[in-house]
Formats: sequence, structure tokens, C-alpha cells
Amino acid sequence: MRGAFRDAPGPRWRTDRRRGRDPGRGAMNLDGDLLASVLIVEDEAKYRRLIIANLRMAGCTVREAASGHEAVQALYEHEPDVILLDLRLPDVDGIVLCQRLRSLTQAPILVLTALDTEQALVESLEAGADDYISKPFSPTELLARLRALLRRGRSQPEVDRPGCGDVRLDPKGRRLIARDRVTHLTPTELRLAAVFVAHCGKVVTHEYLLTRVWGAGYTEEREYLRVYIRRLRQYIEPDPKRPVYLISHLGVGYALYPQPHGQAAAPSLDRS
Ligand code: CA
Repeated sequence: MRGAFRDAPGPRWRTDRRRGRDPGRGAMNLDGDLLASVLIVEDEAKYRRLIIANLRMAGCTVREAASGHEAVQALYEHEPDVILLDLRLPDVDGIVLCQRLRSLTQAPILVLTALDTEQALVESLEAGADDYISKPFSPTELLARLRALLRRGRSQPEVDRPGCGDVRLDPKGRRLIARDRVTHLTPTELRLAAVFVAHCGKVVTHEYLLTRVWGAGYTEEREYLRVYIRRLRQYIEPDPKRPVYLISHLGVGYALYPQPHGQAAAPSLDRS
């Protein structure tokens, strides 16, 4: 059974104004300040403090939550630019919390976890996380991931046409419209959908998709794609188990077709 939210005392997070960098501690080689507001959800105080110190040195404004309950409270008070979420929390299962946060905000979620298994990765992506970093990680690695997430969130997805046949995108409203069904997309979902729409009817390789949506360091992360393709199919396909629009080309990539694609009308063997 997944843990449920329990009543907990009020939020204990604090907000700090951006601090100037201490020139005496300038050992970190950062390529510019992040200037982002970050919500960190982590129950281990020592660990949380360490991460917060590094984020502040990088220019971030940080709010902290030591439990799932506090995380939800913090979100109601202030919308962060990005959320760092530890999966092991005292009051709620991290995956359940991730789903809850995803339902409340479009901010990218970076999952921090010691559970370094493929299942944890898949579960967190399915729950709406945008990226994943395994403990232990270095501050440099964390900041690089955060930068990549924020860059992706801020840059405009490549939308140069409004749609692909039965699938239309409204990038400003972050909506996908498929046969009169409207779905609000997360930033990562929008980026992926936009790549497909831009290449309507053409096969797009795994590497290209991973690079465009997640970044150059992600070309091996096909599991990310599988999870997100599954999600897009839920929004696009009449029957997501038998895709007729968003089709796998085994070993190559995926294509979004403007009309139902005959070849795939048979039950799909595709595990994605
Ligand atoms: Ca923890």
C-alpha cells in the first residue's frame, strides 16, 4: 500500500532572499547564477542543508519542506520554478507525492533518490517527474541537471505548425487537442509533442527526440522516451494499447501520423 497524506503540523519551510556569493568560498565553477526559486522536499536535515547551501551559492531562492504535507502546503503558498523531490519521506510515498505535486504545478520535478533501480526511475517518470538523479551526487551534477531543466522550461518548444492532422497543439496554453479532447501538458510533454508535430508523418529517431526534449547528455535514456510516449498516447490515441497515430518504429524511433496509420491497426507488440 502506498502511504497516504496524514495531518501534520503547519509548514516549516523558510524563504530566503538571494544571498550574494561569498568570494572567500568561490570554489564552485558556475557558469552564471541560476536565479531560480527552488522547492526542496527532503526529510534528512543534514542533506537538505547541504543542498540548500549549494543552491544559494548558485543564486537560487530556496524553500524547504521536510515532509509531503509541507511540500503541498509550500506549493499552495508559492509556485517554484523547479522542485527537488526526495522519494523517501516519512509521511507519504514519494511516488504518490510526485503525482500530487504534478497535479498541482507545471514546475519541473527533479527526483532525488537512493533507490537506483530502473523501476524507481520509471515510476517517478510515470508519476510526472521530469528528471531523476541518484544519491550520492555532486553539487556540480545537481546544478547541471537543474540548469538543463530550467533551460528546457524557459525555451520555446519547436512549434512551427499548429498541428499534425487530428492532433493540434496550443503551445501558449500548453494544451494538446486530439479529436476534441483537450489535455493540459507538462513542459516536458509539450516539448515532446512539439517535436512530433514539427515532423508530422516522419520517423524521428530516439536520439533526436532525447536530445531535443531532454538534452545532449540523454541519448541513451530510452526509458524516458518509453514512459513519455505512453503518456502522449493516452492523450492522442483512441485506444492507447493499440496506437494508430503515435507509432513505434522498432530500433529507430517513433512517428506521429496525421491520420490513423493502417499498419498499426493490429494489436501492437510494442512494449511502449
Ligand atoms: Ca529521505
